[in-house]
Amino acid sequence: MSNESFPERRDIYAVLGAPDSRVPVQAPEDRKEARRMKGGNSFYCSTALGGCGGELTFAIGDVNVPHFRHQAGSRCSLISSKSQADRYTHLAMQEALRSWIETMPGFSCRLEVSIENGRTDVLVTGPSFEVALEVQRSALSARNALERTAVYGQRANVVQWLYASKDIEAYKTELADRGWSLRIWWGWAKKECRIGVSYETDNETDVEIKEIGGPLGDWEVTARGLASAHLRKAKEAVERRRAAERERQQQEAEDARLREEAKKAREVEVRKRRIEEQKASRAALLEALKHTPEGLENRWPSSWPQLRGSPSQVAWAESIRARAVALLREELVEEWLPEARGVPVALWLAIQSSASFWINCRFKDTLAIVQTYEHQFGSPGQSRR
Ligand SMILES: [Zn+2]
Repeated sequence: MSNESFPERRDIYAVLGAPDSRVPVQAPEDRKEARRMKGGNSFYCSTALGGCGGELTFAIGDVNVPHFRHQAGSRCSLISSKSQADRYTHLAMQEALRSWIETMPGFSCRLEVSIENGRTDVLVTGPSFEVALEVQRSALSARNALERTAVYGQRANVVQWLYASKDIEAYKTELADRGWSLRIWWGWAKKECRIGVSYETDNETDVEIKEIGGPLGDWEVTARGLASAHLRKAKEAVERRRAAERERQQQEAEDARLREEAKKAREVEVRKRRIEEQKASRAALLEALKHTPEGLENRWPSSWPQLRGSPSQVAWAESIRARAVALLREELVEEWLPEARGVPVALWLAIQSSASFWINCRFKDTLAIVQTYEHQFGSPGQSRR
């Protein structure tokens, strides 16, 4: 029977030597290499990863890609499981970190240390500090990451997340908040673990996420977490970008402030001009009220009284009075209106100090006002009708 059409369903992971071994292997696709790996070794389904612990057959045939096979009839939950690759890769990364740390003088490390209701992946103990390294391959929300960081932080000085996938919410959030985030890679072929950093940088128009990194030997563990030239370079790039961003925002705020100031200055200017215009029209009004028509020095009202009413009524009435008086004056000066008819009207108007009187006159021209007067008091040389 050929399973060639479902190669992804073949199990290609095992641990070497014993069911609880912590040496994971991936079956190489190349048959020659696979035979070299097989040698005299025995392979097991890992109990540490939740498997059955059964010995596996390393199948290297002519048709199928090399793979591991459980005993016929096994009901192990790891057979063809989707999480198999994740679990074995996670174990490989943990072990790679452990053996790296154990080469550092003065450092030791323990895996899966329980702290409260959580378990750290790799707890590194240095000369005077502890650092928790969390290898994250599966989905993790930003909130969960924060909660777990807080729990591990009760013991470790620093909790450092190493993300094996970019498709993790906690990774994306960390990258957006801080501008950088640590990554971890594992290569089965070379059995090499690499740590790197994703960081934001500028291209011409947009934020670009770049990655740099290298083998574990490029890194050191310090009281402030993992450190390397890669991380320093990334942090510098992020700081440069964020400083430029801050500068741009400050410039924008400054531009907006200047625009707002200019707008206010224009408004003040308009208000000033309006006040000046009002003052000028008021001065013209007072001039018209004061000026006595020629030849009528003794008969034109010597002053026009202050009007009574609310300030807005008075202002309105004053402008109506100014116009009416100016027209009456002009008609007398030009002699369109005979003195005998006009002067009594002027003297009558001069005793009208109620604003409402003038407001009631607002649609009247000189003739209408004269007629109103004559209707009440009669016209010169004739008795009242
Ligand atoms: Zn199994």
